[in-house]
Amino acid sequence: MSDRPLASRRRFLFGTAAAAALPLVLRDLSRPAHAEDLPHLPLDHPQAKALAYVEDASKASDHPNFKPGSHCANCQFIQGKDGEAWRPCQLFPGHAVNAEGWCSAWAKKPGT
Ligand code: SF4
Repeated sequence: MSDRPLASRRRFLFGTAAAAALPLVLRDLSRPAHAEDLPHLPLDHPQAKALAYVEDASKASDHPNFKPGSHCANCQFIQGKDGEAWRPCQLFPGHAVNAEGWCSAWAKKPGT
């Protein structure tokens, strides 16, 4: 007796399952990173430490680069939606920064 019909059926089933899963995978890949999906940037992250990142901008007021009123929400590198407490930052991919935070790379967001 030949195994061909069984192998053929397995291939068909696998192909059908893969085809059914493809739209889900593509949808996930095309989805922008949402802050709620991202871990908060750890303060001991090497780049965060190098840029003196803090979750509360008022704690950075003694930093030589600090400008009064500066914080992540009005930085040109912030992403995500206004009003969200934790948002993606272009400098820290894969993490969310506190909208009230600050780091020494802060640059004024145009129009703020
Ligand atoms: S680059 Fe801007 S948004 Fe990102 S952590 Fe620094 S101050 Fe915040």
